[in-house]
Amino acid sequence: MRLFDTHAHFTDSSDVAGLLGRAAEAGVVRVLAVGGSRELNRNALRTPCPVALGWDRDQTDAGDAEFAELERLVTDNESRVAAIGEIGLDFHYSPESAAAQKELFARELAFADRQGLPVVIHTREADEATLEVIDSVPWLHGNRLRGLIHSYTGGPDFAGKLLDRGFMISFSGIVTFRSADLVRESARFVPDDRILVETDTPFLAPVPLRGHQCEPAYVIHTAKCVASERKTDIETFAELTFANAERLFASNRPHNS
Ligand SMILES: [Zn+2]
Repeated sequence: MRLFDTHAHFTDSSDVAGLLGRAAEAGVVRVLAVGGSRELNRNALRTPCPVALGWDRDQTDAGDAEFAELERLVTDNESRVAAIGEIGLDFHYSPESAAAQKELFARELAFADRQGLPVVIHTREADEATLEVIDSVPWLHGNRLRGLIHSYTGGPDFAGKLLDRGFMISFSGIVTFRSADLVRESARFVPDDRILVETDTPFLAPVPLRGHQCEPAYVIHTAKCVASERKTDIETFAELTFANAERLFASNRPHNS
């Protein structure tokens, strides 16, 4: 069985070899190391993993210099950069910067599209704004898979709108939480060719490991929960989500972007 954890953050103190070793023992043979700030980008690049690099919703000061820096990082690490991220909107924690978040999000979506890379999107209490920004981008590569929505917490209605726009939906440990009936409904709704799983390490450890510091190995618990919701077996579901992640992140970068 092979699993792909599509979202893990590493910190300055992360024991990368230990985390990835335990992951491999649990069948988690691929992990996307996700950036979002200067520190997170640096720590993602410190791993041997495929990476997502970008400026998240807390980096609304990012301007021309930061975009030049991001472009340099992407170019210098071309063989490892699988996506731009995480990017997106959080109106729960930072409603006061909503306008600046939208502006940064739009600029990064356009940047990723020009680079021919998929995006890793965070969205919290910002459904309408997320769709509005996605729809405002003049996509150059219209028919390609555009990326994934990470740690999905919404219902099937919003999921449907994201699927229509070419995104995959990734489920984290939240789907295992007792109160997450709506998220489980979405986990049953997303079609086989668009579903992914992740840990959001070091956050959101799944049941039965809540309270522990999350790590990539734990994605097995999330995968088992979603597989059982979808009335399929874990081996089939693991292989399906692994293939989806590979397909998304392989999405052929055009040479003339
Ligand atoms: Zn994250």
